Amino acid sequence: MIRIGVTGGIGSGKTTFCKEWEKRGAFVVFADDVAKELMVSDEQLIQQIKDTFGDEAYLHDGSLNREYLAEEAFAKNRVEELNALVHPVLWKHIDELALIKEREGIEAFVYEAALLLKKGRPKNVDRVVLLLADEQQRIKRVVYRDGAKEEQVKDRISKQNSFEELTHLADYVIRNDGSLEDLKIKASELFDRVFEEV
Ligand code: ATP
Repeated sequence: MIRIGVTGGIGSGKTTFCKEWEKRGAFVVFADDVAKELMVSDEQLIQQIKDTFGDEAYLHDGSLNREYLAEEAFAKNRVEELNALVHPVLWKHIDELALIKEREGIEAFVYEAALLLKKGRPKNVDRVVLLLADEQQRIKRVVYRDGAKEEQVKDRISKQNSFEELTHLADYVIRNDGSLEDLKIKASELFDRVFEEV
């Protein structure tokens, strides 16, 4: 089984790319979704988050107090602290899941994470795919997709590091500056290429 990490900025086309690979039989896991799930299910992580950010980080029904945590972590520049708690648990979970999927006979295990290359290239992926797209196009696409305000999207983009500077850490760089169909074709072609090269 090959483990592929897929990364890129907001609206660069990561999800679209991964969905194409899913169609080809890859097992895809989205870091954000798993992280959200672990933050309300992993008892040790829950306790660590409460110890660090306060019991108010959770509501009485056990769900995450998103508003509070957003204020504490994002507005107060404590995102790194939150990531330092979540990421080790997340990677452990992903590693375990990958083992299970390998035993099930999955040939491509895809891990989609915007923060994949945050601390350099992670050891537990065999290949890295980086998606890049023109910033104006990314803004336009996300505004359209989420019904978000342009300023909000620009603000989120400004909080991410520049992905253009990470090409040296990637095995494959996909430029998503054409049509949606072009991206899907590129994704499918890369699937074939990766397996030809194994
Ligand atoms: P995020 O980081 O916000 O989760 P993402 O990197 O996963 O975004 P996608 O969700 O795949 O990006 O793409 C963002 C939006 O732009 C989607 O609505 C998608 O359909 C659209 N899109 C992606 N690529 C293109 C393209 N080449 N032409 C037109 N629309 C596109």
